[in-house]
Amino acid sequence: MNYGIFGGQYVPQNLKEKLGVIAQKFNELKKEKKFKEEYLYYLKHFVGRPSPLYFASNLTEYLNGAKIYLKREDLNHTGSHKINNAIGQVLLAKRLGYTHIIAETGAGQHGVATATVCALFKMKCTIFMGKEDIKRQHVNVEKMKILGAEIKEVTRGEGTLKEAVDEAFEYFEKHQESYYLIGSAVGPYPYPEIVKYFQKVIGEETKKQIKTLEGKLPSAVIACIGGGSNSIGMFTPFIKEKVDIYGVEGAGLGLQTGYHASAIYNNKIGILHGMKTYTMQDEDGKIKDAYSISAGLDYPGIGPEHAFHHKNKRVKYDSITDKEAVEAFKLLTNLEGIIPALESSHAVAYAMKIATNYKKDDIIVICLSGRGDKDLDNIMNYS
Ligand SMILES: *Cc1c(COP(=O)(O)O)cnc(C)c1O
Repeated sequence: MNYGIFGGQYVPQNLKEKLGVIAQKFNELKKEKKFKEEYLYYLKHFVGRPSPLYFASNLTEYLNGAKIYLKREDLNHTGSHKINNAIGQVLLAKRLGYTHIIAETGAGQHGVATATVCALFKMKCTIFMGKEDIKRQHVNVEKMKILGAEIKEVTRGEGTLKEAVDEAFEYFEKHQESYYLIGSAVGPYPYPEIVKYFQKVIGEETKKQIKTLEGKLPSAVIACIGGGSNSIGMFTPFIKEKVDIYGVEGAGLGLQTGYHASAIYNNKIGILHGMKTYTMQDEDGKIKDAYSISAGLDYPGIGPEHAFHHKNKRVKYDSITDKEAVEAFKLLTNLEGIIPALESSHAVAYAMKIATNYKKDDIIVICLSGRGDKDLDNIMNYS
């Protein structure tokens, strides 16, 4: 797909060649029945798909607006939507003959998903992780190690996700035998397309499930946005339908404070990790660090297809503060007995805001991208 002025391949020539081979194979495999069947086999038997589309009756009653449904990506093996993409890409890498998978991780969710599929498919696995994130996410670090992954500590800059991605790209360029399994719908072409392809199962299942349950499409779908993979996965089958679509970035301490993770807020376009998109920038146009209570949303850019849907106004992008997300986290846990990831809590908080803009027989679907066990410390320390 063409994203207008966004996207592209802002990488060195030798990496362009490597990406060209990956793109060609990916485009071939999309048409191959056996490849699709293999991917769907693991989604069903290893990940546990289809994930339920759950009617949140207590939350609906509480909000007194549209009917709220939750797409339960939190119930996937390893606890989030990340595994859908990890399975798909490791199968692609295998077909290309790669034996060494590398990946970046911030919160550790993508690192755990990648280490998991590497164990399953007997691949060597190296995870790039910022030194600050290693400290903050020690449980996930231990999980990755026990799954057999090697952790490469990234110390440059702030020692967080952005630098981990930089270093992974450098390694990918220098080491021909390595395949970079990107965790979100970001990076140079063909990554945004690859990640969308393996995540659109979320929206495709939702569309079928809601038709069975309610006999109609939802009025609105909502998803949170870090780089934009669970969201593009949910949105894709609804883009051409008469459905309102909302993408929710992290507003951190508040957009005016500068401590946030909204790439769209300042309307600045730049180059980040091989793509042209909206990015957070300082006065000199340098990429600025993002901030969000939720590590998975803590990224200073947004996938190029989202940039495109923002510019052409098909999707409404908005943001939710840390405080609002924590309130939504507690509310959903109390009302439904479901502990959401802090990332997903941003989407829940947004649904709370707009539920009464809709009629009572309208439907809002929230993509519950992951489970919140990993966030309990964070919530308990929050004041
Ligand atoms: C990583 C993550 C996100 C953010 O990433 P996207 O690519 O924007 O989906 C959201 N929710 C959870 C649970 C995550 O682990």
